[in-house]
Amino acid sequence: MNTFKLEIITPAREFLETDAVSLTFNSTDGEITVLKGHIPMVASLGIGELRIKDESGVKVAFHSEGFVEVRPDEVLVFSQACEWPDEIDVSRAESAKERALEKLRQKQSILENRHTQISLTRAMVRLKLSSKK
Ligand code: ATP
Repeated sequence: MNTFKLEIITPAREFLETDAVSLTFNSTDGEITVLKGHIPMVASLGIGELRIKDESGVKVAFHSEGFVEVRPDEVLVFSQACEWPDEIDVSRAESAKERALEKLRQKQSILENRHTQISLTRAMVRLKLSSKK
């Protein structure tokens, strides 16, 4: 099989190391799929869904912000947070969503508003993925 070494790291843990066939993630410029032999690059990770295809099938996971480095011989993903769907604490994500929505009803600076929108996106993507358990 045409595979490449994939390592996904967060500040909390080594999330995944596998020989992947493909990796799809949400970059700040839109969805990107990497296959073996992809041109070397660095991409900014937005918040979204990781889709990893390896010999055991297709796995999906939540990813927060970070970056992806595509090297000639391996792909490294550095993300602030990654979770498998069954690791997502739904009530925590619901609370984060409610907190963000409440803040958005109040007056905020542009910067605070931006941070709140990002928190809301994290919560919404977690809730969407947790329904794929
Ligand atoms: P919260 O406001 O609930 O802390 P957050 O979006 O600010 O949410 P992050 O900064 O993305 O949280 O993540 C901090 C740590 O907590 C990470 O290790 C992440 O995996 C974990 N985490 C955050 N929310 C959840 C959740 N709903 N379920 C499981 N783990 C979570």
